[in-house]
Amino acid sequence: MDDLFDLKNKVVIVTGASRGLGKVIAVGLAQKGAKVVLSDVLDCSDTANEIKNIEGETLSVKTDVSNQDEVGKMVDKTLDKYGRIDILVNNAGILKDGKAEEFSIKDWKSVLDINLTGQFYCAKEVGKQMIKQKNGRIINISSIAGLKGYAGSVPYSASKGGVILLTKTLASEWGEYNINVNAVCPGVFATDMTEDYLESEEFVQNIKDNVPLGRYANPEELVGTIVYLSSKSSDYVTGHSLVIDGGWTASL
Ligand code: NAD
Repeated sequence: MDDLFDLKNKVVIVTGASRGLGKVIAVGLAQKGAKVVLSDVLDCSDTANEIKNIEGETLSVKTDVSNQDEVGKMVDKTLDKYGRIDILVNNAGILKDGKAEEFSIKDWKSVLDINLTGQFYCAKEVGKQMIKQKNGRIINISSIAGLKGYAGSVPYSASKGGVILLTKTLASEWGEYNINVNAVCPGVFATDMTEDYLESEEFVQNIKDNVPLGRYANPEELVGTIVYLSSKSSDYVTGHSLVIDGGWTASL
């Protein structure tokens, strides 16, 4: 039987690939043979070097996903070099905290612009190419905060909830072009985004008490899920939001 998880020579764009989940996703996909376009507002040379060390291939393209022109250029540069795009991982995101009644509109907008509109821009520009190819996969990073209200960041929860319906709608529209669109909803993973939270004993104790597996996750624990959704092992999966949270949202 063929390797159901093989990604040899697949062309992948990973947004937010400089660090955190985006970095391990990029390296993990390269390990399965993909050529990875590393896109971020930050420098991606650490990620590129890790991939070089395993003899993988990368192209770094500085991109702010909330800027439609920059997203268009990211797609053009990818097509100039590789001529096709097989997989998009819409990972770039930010989290801003605050009480709903005090949240500034500027901060609300910046979270929505990056986490939701940014994913739409990338899906739209990449989708045009995937429609031509009649083939492609898009994986949108949502969150368990997109499934349940997260007190403490109303725009984050709203954006991640929006990502789930963005996913279902694009899956509905683009199924006829053989484009699979899925989301993943991570629980708490140790990255720069969660570093301050994980320094709080109360926050960590809450995870121990309420997550059935009794712990938060390491970034590498997301990779298998992304490889699955990128590969032919998930050919008949689309419009789905896969929860990877140690069982947190499953329990009472
Ligand atoms: P992180 O802060 O470590 O990394 C996010 C990356 O996105 C950074 O490299 C950052 O520069 C990049 N980025 C931010 N704004 C950007 C923009 N406008 N354009 C391009 N790149 C931009 O965070 P992370 O924990 O790795 O999060 C990755 C994704 O996973 C995010 O969408 C986040 O919401 C989601 N997520 C994370 C967790 C978690 O526990 N860490 C849980 C659920 C969902």
